[in-house]
Amino acid sequence: MLPAEADVVVIGGGIVGSSIAWEIAKRKGNVLLLEKGQIGSEQSSRAWGFVRQQGRDPSEVPMMMAGNRIWQELQAELGEDIEWVQAGNLKIAYDEQRLEELRGWLPVAREFNLDTSILTAQQIRDLIPGIHGPIAGGMFTPSDGHAEPTKVAPAIGRAAEREGATVVTYCAAERIEVSGGHVSAVVTEQGTVHTPVVVCAAGGWSKKLARTVGLTLPQIQVRNTVAETTSTSPITQVGVWAPDVAFRQRPGGTFYIARGGRSDYDITTESFRGTRMFAANYLKNRGMFNLRVGGELVKDVLRVLPGSEAREHPFAHTVDVEPEPNFETAWASLEGLRTMFPTLQDVGIKRVFAGLIDSTPDAVPVMGPVDQPRGLYFATGFSGHGFALGPIVGRVMAELILDGSSPYDLHHMRFSRFDEGDLADPHKMV
Ligand SMILES: Cc1cc2nc3c(=O)[nH]c(=O)nc-3n(C[C@H](O)[C@H](O)[C@H](O)COP(=O)(O)OP(=O)(O)OC[C@H]3O[C@@H](n4cnc5c(N)ncnc54)[C@H](O)[C@@H]3O)c2cc1C
Repeated sequence: MLPAEADVVVIGGGIVGSSIAWEIAKRKGNVLLLEKGQIGSEQSSRAWGFVRQQGRDPSEVPMMMAGNRIWQELQAELGEDIEWVQAGNLKIAYDEQRLEELRGWLPVAREFNLDTSILTAQQIRDLIPGIHGPIAGGMFTPSDGHAEPTKVAPAIGRAAEREGATVVTYCAAERIEVSGGHVSAVVTEQGTVHTPVVVCAAGGWSKKLARTVGLTLPQIQVRNTVAETTSTSPITQVGVWAPDVAFRQRPGGTFYIARGGRSDYDITTESFRGTRMFAANYLKNRGMFNLRVGGELVKDVLRVLPGSEAREHPFAHTVDVEPEPNFETAWASLEGLRTMFPTLQDVGIKRVFAGLIDSTPDAVPVMGPVDQPRGLYFATGFSGHGFALGPIVGRVMAELILDGSSPYDLHHMRFSRFDEGDLADPHKMV
């Protein structure tokens, strides 16, 4: 049941919002977690499941390394199987130019004492026997791992409830209310909750929620497709990202396969709002995006028609959405896997699904309080790598809210960087 008041209201029950609620509840905070559908039903359950430290923007690395330590204990702390495997993450290059780009990230690893190194083609063949392809080398971090996205956020949501958080599902936050420059309440589809602190952890919906208090968050959503194969004998526990296919093998023997760097972008009415900052990035990475004008635009136009239920209640109206997978991408991923492992010709596809990734113009998240209104925090814009960050983000946000500070430098993640034009340099990620 929806309480009339809470010390902290977290909007969005993905891995990020659930972790924030859990960490606050562990510290005996009075916290309410609102989710418009089921816990973890959007991006957080559709990720590949890579828990990667390597290749990130330097501003994220210290936090992600602390996050990795949380992951190592998470399964035991939650008391549930989340398929955690710590066998490293490998990014493969097919040519010298790409390998040189990967080498360019090594100074970041050295700065933070991360166990990343460059492997030769032979070392990769020794690490993953049976692997084929024009491998020039790769970047490998043995302490990276992977876990099962369908299991993690719901398990964290349950842990938050056990610690005393109130978790209300199928309850969309419709707007944030402000009084005298300070957050005062959240209006939901089930009533109003009074609160002095709101955390917007609404994934791809954060842009719309920000608008309810007059803030402009530059954020787009791109659609990525994942396929799960039929089960086969153990090949490798390493999480691999190669040019033709990214994959990880689950403990049960199936593979999650995808094409890294291939996304569909559906033009919607939101595409015409606050996306100017993405233009430079889009032009540079044109080959990675498949622009689509079609069903999503029609659905979206119907949603914004004056007087429509969807326009009045946009969040409550869009729950448990099943984004359309790109089957061409799924088959291409399978082809990539079979080419890389010729022994896997009999492996087929068991299921195909898609997820909408929320992204900021510099692919760095937005974390921390905003200047105005006071009491409003954001933890959003994880740009395709927030599954791994989720648990540590929960801890950091709890520290910010309860202690007023965090041991990490969050300057590059501040909301105001967009207005200031002070964005991170995408060249620092590989
Ligand atoms: C195909 C794919 C592959 C990926 N692979 C990886 C990977 O391997 N490793 C990695 O680290 N990351 C990966 N990611 C990215 C990762 O999944 C996301 O960065 C992460 O899940 C973001 O978590 P979140 O909690 O911010 O968002 P979400 O999981 O989207 O959660 C936000 C929640 O807020 C709820 N919500 C929204 N508006 C409201 C409202 N008004 N009221 C109440 N609730 C609301 C939504 O229903 C949703 O459940 C991948 C993503 C996709 C789609």
